[in-house]
Amino acid sequence: MDYFLTEEQRMIQDLSAQIAKEKIRPIRAQLDQQEEFPWETVKVLAQSDLYGLYIPEEYGGMGGGIFENCLAVEQLAYACIGVATTFAASGLGAYPILLYGSDEQKENYLPDIATGKRLAAFGLTESGAGSDVSGIQTTAVRDGDSYILNGTKQWITNGGEAEIYSILAITDRSKGPRGGSFFILEKGDPGFTFGKKEKKLGLRASATRELVFQDCRIPKDRLIGREGMGFIIAMKTFDKSRPGIGILGVGLSQGALDIAVEYARKRVQFGKPIISFQAIQHKLANMAIKTEAARALIYSTARYMDTDPHDSSKVAAMCKVFGGDVAMEVTTEAVQVLGGYGYMQDYPVEKMMRDAKILQIYEGTNEIQRNIIGQELNKEYGRMKDTFF
Ligand SMILES: Cc1cc2nc3c(=O)[nH]c(=O)nc-3n(C[C@H](O)[C@H](O)[C@H](O)COP(=O)(O)OP(=O)(O)OC[C@H]3O[C@@H](n4cnc5c(N)ncnc54)[C@H](O)[C@@H]3O)c2cc1C
Repeated sequence: MDYFLTEEQRMIQDLSAQIAKEKIRPIRAQLDQQEEFPWETVKVLAQSDLYGLYIPEEYGGMGGGIFENCLAVEQLAYACIGVATTFAASGLGAYPILLYGSDEQKENYLPDIATGKRLAAFGLTESGAGSDVSGIQTTAVRDGDSYILNGTKQWITNGGEAEIYSILAITDRSKGPRGGSFFILEKGDPGFTFGKKEKKLGLRASATRELVFQDCRIPKDRLIGREGMGFIIAMKTFDKSRPGIGILGVGLSQGALDIAVEYARKRVQFGKPIISFQAIQHKLANMAIKTEAARALIYSTARYMDTDPHDSSKVAAMCKVFGGDVAMEVTTEAVQVLGGYGYMQDYPVEKMMRDAKILQIYEGTNEIQRNIIGQELNKEYGRMKDTFF
């Protein structure tokens, strides 16, 4: 399928694919088994300028958008979504600054994020606040020229490895949804430490860790935007980042599909390659249809989002749901096509299936995405004058 990429977009795709093939594929099993953070690959990605794809040129980036970033993430995910998540999560941490930061904050942080010199992370989730973000307990109290943070964030991607953290904290609980604010935290800020490092089903090349704030004092100019904008910043950030989660699913699905087709062409049972059995052909066909459909949805959505539309929550949620569900289905079917060999660590599809599950959970579960889509549909149809029956 030709998606009519520009020459520059093809170059981004080719470069990312080359890094995935040469630098990620050979070590993905080791990263998974040893739960290693992929620092070597991060350095290669930094040298290739890919960290700056979506960051404006004035802040040292390439001046592209969500679409260009998706092209890179897809190729990295083809080899390993653990590494690709590490890459994409830096963007998630950068978006609050990019969207709502002051000029000084942008100048201070974005150039280092764009060059990959410093990784970023995004801290929202807490032990009692997952889907229901309003339950967060971390507080930020103004004290003269400082804010003092107390609380613990849980399951933060790039936790402990990143240098720059965008963190949501409560500044005024009495204001409810207008009582949250975003802050920039730096590794090394007094009172900011790292807690439990998680052991996971999949996505093991990605670090997932607690962030602990104990009387953590930061200068007041680390507030992003204004006090009370925290929940809006979180939602606008997710609108920008959710196509990137969907495209992780597309890259992963394509990786599993390619292995399944190659295996089915080589594996002989009953005297024939198993691809000659219609049951196997239909599985592969469904895998290919869904992967391409997810790619088409996410490419067109990412291009649309780069026009800065107001109504992006619904389509961003659709990308996240569809990319994640397709990846779960396609990787599970890939294991089935490989039979017992698919269940063994000798082939990468068992890792792909373990990895895929996260795409239905993080950055808002797929149930929550469907809630968003349903609520937006209700609003849209409520505004329409037409009737349909
Ligand atoms: C590997 C990993 C990395 C992560 N990285 C980050 C990160 O970098 N930054 C960060 O802030 N967070 C991160 N998270 C947290 C992640 O975003 C949350 O796990 C997710 O939002 C769901 O929250 P929860 O796990 O507490 O589930 P819960 O909210 O407890 O949900 C449990 C179940 O109930 C369902 N449910 C809950 N409410 C509703 C509802 N209203 N309607 C229908 N179903 C509902 C959910 O869909 C789910 O199936 C990460 C999580 C993991 C596992």
